[in-house]
Amino acid sequence: MKLRTRIFHIDKNDFIGSISEAAGIIKEGGTVAFPTETVYGLGADALDPVAVRAIFDAKGRPADNPLIVHVASKEQCEELTENIPEKAYILMDRFWPGPLTLILQRRETVPDITTGGLDTVAVRMPDNKIALELIRISGRPLAAPSANLSGKPSPTTADHVIEDLCGRIDAIIDGGAVRVGIESTVIDMTSEVPAILRPGMISGDEIEREIGETATGYEDIVHHDIEKVRSPGMKYVHYSPDATVILIEGSNEMVVIKLREMLDDFRSRGARVGLLLTDENSGYLSGDELFLVGSKERPGDLAFNLFAGLRYLDKKKVDIILADGSFSHSGVGTAVLNRLRKAAETIIKV
Ligand code: AMP
Ligand code: MG
Repeated sequence: MKLRTRIFHIDKNDFIGSISEAAGIIKEGGTVAFPTETVYGLGADALDPVAVRAIFDAKGRPADNPLIVHVASKEQCEELTENIPEKAYILMDRFWPGPLTLILQRRETVPDITTGGLDTVAVRMPDNKIALELIRISGRPLAAPSANLSGKPSPTTADHVIEDLCGRIDAIIDGGAVRVGIESTVIDMTSEVPAILRPGMISGDEIEREIGETATGYEDIVHHDIEKVRSPGMKYVHYSPDATVILIEGSNEMVVIKLREMLDDFRSRGARVGLLLTDENSGYLSGDELFLVGSKERPGDLAFNLFAGLRYLDKKKVDIILADGSFSHSGVGTAVLNRLRKAAETIIKV
């Protein structure tokens, strides 16, 4: 069924007024896309199974891939969860509101559809005034995955949401571009040693400084064939534009040589090739289309531009995207690498 998707703009002089109508839609069981600091989310009342079903339908998301529930206070988190460990409180105090999602034991009140039938629930407090007000005014915790069609790059502007979901959801709040650009770090607080299930802007090192040892509970490759992975989202194709993405990892010099070789090869065979490059390498190569993700010296810029770059090159109808993986793979680079590896059909190490 085609919906008439309403688009709300924020009036600085009536901030609360401009969010109230969207909050009303949430209260009636509707779906509203809204900005967070990470990416745009597609929100609905996390405790209303029918509303949450509409999120899965709009995105085409597999039913066993659970959603992150967004809250505006620690108390709201406590209403959804049980037996919160001390270390989880330490992380909340240090990083909330912010791009860190905690996996905690769920209460019965959280419906199965929200958690994909798991006995745990993912919770986070977003660091965005619009998101927090939407939760506060609606009075509901918001289940909200990224507001893109399942499998596509996550949306970092309202236009990206419109491209994917216009006619499939009730409303979009346009709050401009997001700040971070990649999804939250996810950490499982229910295991003996807390395990990072998805890397993000908050790095493992930062977390370990607060709570000691953590484990790595993710792999960058996509597990199509695994029945029970620890975080159900791990086994699905992600962030994939229509073009075929090929990621080249290695030292700067070797990556440039390989990129040039592949570029020549694909073009000689008549393919349109898009380049997703770091600023440092922009002078060495020219493809049919180019998107610069920023300087390697500012990994936050790479995170901020990555998804927009994949979407940009797709719009230019390239057949192949050659991605420059010569940036540092530590800190935020770990998270950028994780998203690129998942988007890539082929990973070449040189
Ligand atoms: P998204 O909302 O699209 O950014 O994806 C949320 C991510 O969190 C997915 O990778 C989910 O599999 C993961 N996730 C959500 N809830 C849980 C949970 N209870 N246990 C483990 N992983 C979860
Ligand atoms: Mg997503």
